[in-house]
Amino acid sequence: MIIPKASSLTAEQLAEITAIVGEFGCRIQPIIGTTRSIYAILGDERSETMRARLEGLDYVARLDTIQSPFKLMDVRSELATHAIRIGGVEVRKELLVIAGPCTIDPKNPSFFLESAHAVKEAGAHVIRGGVWKPRTNPYSFQGDDRSLEILMEASRQTGLPVNTEVMDEDNLRRALEAGVQMIQIGTRNALNYSLLRQIGARVAGRDTLVLLKRGRHMGPIDEFISAAEYIANFGNPNILLCPRGTMPTLEGYRSHPDESITPLLKEKTWAPVVVDPSHSVGKAAYVESCALAALAYGADGLCIEAHVAPAKGIGDDPKQAVTPAALKRIVDRARRLWEIHHAADV
Ligand code: PEP
Ligand code: MN
Repeated sequence: MIIPKASSLTAEQLAEITAIVGEFGCRIQPIIGTTRSIYAILGDERSETMRARLEGLDYVARLDTIQSPFKLMDVRSELATHAIRIGGVEVRKELLVIAGPCTIDPKNPSFFLESAHAVKEAGAHVIRGGVWKPRTNPYSFQGDDRSLEILMEASRQTGLPVNTEVMDEDNLRRALEAGVQMIQIGTRNALNYSLLRQIGARVAGRDTLVLLKRGRHMGPIDEFISAAEYIANFGNPNILLCPRGTMPTLEGYRSHPDESITPLLKEKTWAPVVVDPSHSVGKAAYVESCALAALAYGADGLCIEAHVAPAKGIGDDPKQAVTPAALKRIVDRARRLWEIHHAADV
């Protein structure tokens, strides 16, 4: 839909836009109003080049497209009924809980292994643990290849699948070779299109899931869904969207909590929404409120940092990991909210 700056287009202007859209197999249907006229584009209006050329015309005020830019992740796509399964759960039919320490400490593997058993006991279906860590400060602990073995040992001991973040192709290769079942794309890499493409290509044809965090710097919601489309485009649509807070604007919170985007995501995409309250609020004491808010907004799952002894952990754990007891309370209460939320469906 082309909205001109003036109340209508001149004959020359109409001829120009008709010629432009014609190059892309579209037609123009003028809608003549009493005070203003607008110009509908008939046909596949998704070409970026076509849109850019129209938007670049100095007599065009605005261009609105009604067609979804997503072919695969769109809520109306055929994939909308695609079932994503992990850890004995069919996502969207049951609350999915991913939990575990932020960071695996290779010097103290028992903390991670004990935490893995404890989060399973508390109701987690997937164990999370950072092997390679994206740290703001280059002098902070950056992770360790040896932690991958500890992660997989936790998976063997508990029988649960595991999730870890990859930051580059080497991490990705190692994680997939080791058998990591869920690959995490962190907030800093959510717009790293070459990494998104590599992950899409490497998980194609496998059962691997991808947990895509929302970029803390992301703008419009379509940017988030488009990042998922990059991955799905290679053939594996096992993608979970994970709001985890955006750039901080609230004093006291690590990020600006964004669990409230869940209904908006659900209007646009079929992808399950798994909220990470830990990185959103950044403080163990606030995690439960954020997690329950996520459920109230209709989230399909939670990804929570939890540790048997948070104070002895590394990375984010001392400040934002909850104890297994606190995790259990969150999971129990979240399940009750899940029931309330889904009771409306029956
Ligand atoms: C993490 O999960 O520990 C992490 C670093 O996440 P994010 O990318 O959301 O900051
Ligand atoms: Mn963390």
